[in-house]
Amino acid sequence: MNPAPQKTSLYGMTPEELTGQLKEAGMPAFRGKQLLDWVYRKRASSWQQMLNLPQSMREWLDTHYRLLPSKHVLTKQAGDITEKLLVELEDSRYVETVLIRYPQKGVGQEDSRSTVCVSSQVGCAYGCKFCASGLDGWKRNLSTGEILAQLVHVCDLEASRGVESTDNLPFDNIVFMGMGEPLANYDAVMGAITALNADWGMNFGARRITISTSGLVPQILKLAEEPIQFRLAISLHGATNESRSSIMPVNRKYPLEELIPAAEKFSQKHGRMLTLEFILIKGINDSMSEAKSLSEIAKRLHAHVNLIPYNQVEGLSWERSNLSRQQAFAEVLRRENISHTIRKEKGHSIDAACGQLRLRKEREREA
Ligand code: SAH
Ligand code: SF4
Repeated sequence: MNPAPQKTSLYGMTPEELTGQLKEAGMPAFRGKQLLDWVYRKRASSWQQMLNLPQSMREWLDTHYRLLPSKHVLTKQAGDITEKLLVELEDSRYVETVLIRYPQKGVGQEDSRSTVCVSSQVGCAYGCKFCASGLDGWKRNLSTGEILAQLVHVCDLEASRGVESTDNLPFDNIVFMGMGEPLANYDAVMGAITALNADWGMNFGARRITISTSGLVPQILKLAEEPIQFRLAISLHGATNESRSSIMPVNRKYPLEELIPAAEKFSQKHGRMLTLEFILIKGINDSMSEAKSLSEIAKRLHAHVNLIPYNQVEGLSWERSNLSRQQAFAEVLRRENISHTIRKEKGHSIDAACGQLRLRKEREREA
């Protein structure tokens, strides 16, 4: 394992921290502004690019700081829709970042909408039985800088292909649906969302950011008080305590009778529509009575339901519900007037179910 990093990454420092440190080193506050501009807007890859900073300051920066706290080491592509970036952290651990392109035709022009799916932890402690991220347990939280760096790696990848993005990020949405439970790493995730959304940061619209959670009730209540207008998705995956607890151990700690009122409070306070994610797993949660219970929950929460056909995970025996069952399940929601979508499969062939690529790489290395 590498020795602990000596230099702090500039990604993840607040403007106050940065200007405080510059001031201590005898530099004026406006240098902090210039530096943030190089970091977040221009996404400089070296100190030497920062031509409006004096050479002596660039040298000082080089001895005390680093730009990115991680490296993008591998890209895997599935058709032209999904790409997975394997990112190596300074302690040699891996996380995954996924770029999903939804080709969309606009009026008279070809539009392209894309989403980046970021990781918030290495591994996950919640051990949902269908998920690759939790298979080897939780390793550690990501820092704010490590979360933001995943987005910079995507920007760099797109820039290497000529996708211009100096002032805007080259994607439309960011979802915290990669590895880890974002609400178990609350402060670092909120730090990243703050920097993404801020004028001094990446200036990315909060409504285009979605946090997905397996349902940590105290943190959902805390989120309800946050001023930034991000969206929330709840991984429901079971519409009764019985089915949910059988695949999500977290439901024993925070059962539906606690989770649903917390979700209700979030949507009331935040004034945003919630999404309920529901993976369809054959014989586990795909019965018609489950669909009926799900409709009742969605109605109460005025939530949109995202049905996700289960993605096979190596080493797990669960199977996806077949197409006719998926359609029958959706038909129950339709009859109940529940807004819903069935997610199309994306990136199955590159281990897109969260955590699989990283797990394979770490196991290869251990072997
Ligand atoms: N920990 C958070 C966010 C990461 S998981 C959460 O659980 O919400 C992001 C989404 O991917 C969750 O809805 C999760 O349930 C889903 N997921 C995990 N494994 C999957 C699989 N094998 N197939 C389809 N979706 C999966
Ligand atoms: Fe963790 Fe989410 Fe996977 Fe559950 S679904 S193990 S909470 S990453």
